[in-house]
Amino acid sequence: MARKVLTLGEVRDGALRNVSFETIGAAKIAAEGGEVVSVLIGNDVKSLGAELIQYGADRVVVVEDEKLVQYTPDGYSQALMTVIDGEKPEGLIFGHTALGKDLAPKIASKLQSGLISDATSVEEAGGNLVFTRPIYSGKAFEKKIVTDGLVFATIRPNNIAPLAKDESRSGEVSSLQADIKDLRTVIKEVVRKASEGVDLSEAKVVIAGGRGVKSEDGFEPLKELASVLGGAVGASRGACDAEYCDYSLQIGQTGKVVTPDLYIACGISGAIQHLAGMSNSKVIVAINKDPEANIFKVADYGIVGDLFEVVPMLTEEFRKL
Ligand code: FAD
Repeated sequence: MARKVLTLGEVRDGALRNVSFETIGAAKIAAEGGEVVSVLIGNDVKSLGAELIQYGADRVVVVEDEKLVQYTPDGYSQALMTVIDGEKPEGLIFGHTALGKDLAPKIASKLQSGLISDATSVEEAGGNLVFTRPIYSGKAFEKKIVTDGLVFATIRPNNIAPLAKDESRSGEVSSLQADIKDLRTVIKEVVRKASEGVDLSEAKVVIAGGRGVKSEDGFEPLKELASVLGGAVGASRGACDAEYCDYSLQIGQTGKVVTPDLYIACGISGAIQHLAGMSNSKVIVAINKDPEANIFKVADYGIVGDLFEVVPMLTEEFRKL
């Protein structure tokens, strides 16, 4: 059944995040031949609309207001509800990002709709739309079949491939005026922690350290390997709790969920709460002194050894390529 599906473009530091293109890829499947309309919310964001079209959106609707410079659930939901009232979509697909996780349930409750959260794939099967999502911290997957009503889902970043960029594509990028009422929350200032290198949640390569790195300095070889591979550094909660690194690097059930092409776990035992955040990575390499470590059960390649010997060797070899 062809349907109109809305996606939400996410903007960070003046550029679209990859997940914006992945939601279009998912929406194309969910639309089953219908129209995909991307929504851009912010202030001075209209120029980004063309890129969403190049990644497959049929149309872009832009809501701009100076009250929307920063994300607030209040402001964004007012803007989005204005678009939804006008467009009357049969589907909505957001990224399962910090923003999507916050906004989607709010919109779902306003629309009195169900919500499939954290989907890792969507397909058409037997005349129905089927979303797959991890359960029990990624130990199993369940399939959700949409039989009727609004198709509303958030998709996990780095799982559903975006369409190839087609620079010859063009389409309508229109502005919509929304009456954004006074916001209950106003963001006065955003103080960013200085972060080096690649964004962990979007990195294609993640080098993660656990308690086995033993100190803050123990992360240095991992940072070097990450820089040679163009990747980001992550950590287990064990390493964060031990104050070897900042909690913003934590991967797992109570940290970030990452699905890079390559995940190298260094000195991480592989507790279930850690696996919940990385077991969907495409290729997992584990380096651990203990051959019985649980991490080897999910690893594609295991290296039993001291990370302080193995990691510099890998860095040297990759440098030669
Ligand atoms: P450890 O379990 O201590 O493992 C260290 C590993 O390093 C060992 O396997 C050891 O053999 C190896 N090692 C030591 N020295 C070396 C060396 N020189 N070379 C190679 N290997 C070496 N954890 C998370 O990671 N993320 C979460 O989001 C998370 N959420 C949680 C939520 C809840 C409610 C709870 C209860 C726990 C959570 N945890 C989480 C904690 C989790 O249970 C583990 O305690 C934690 O993941 C362990 O971290 P670790 O593997 O770094 O440390």
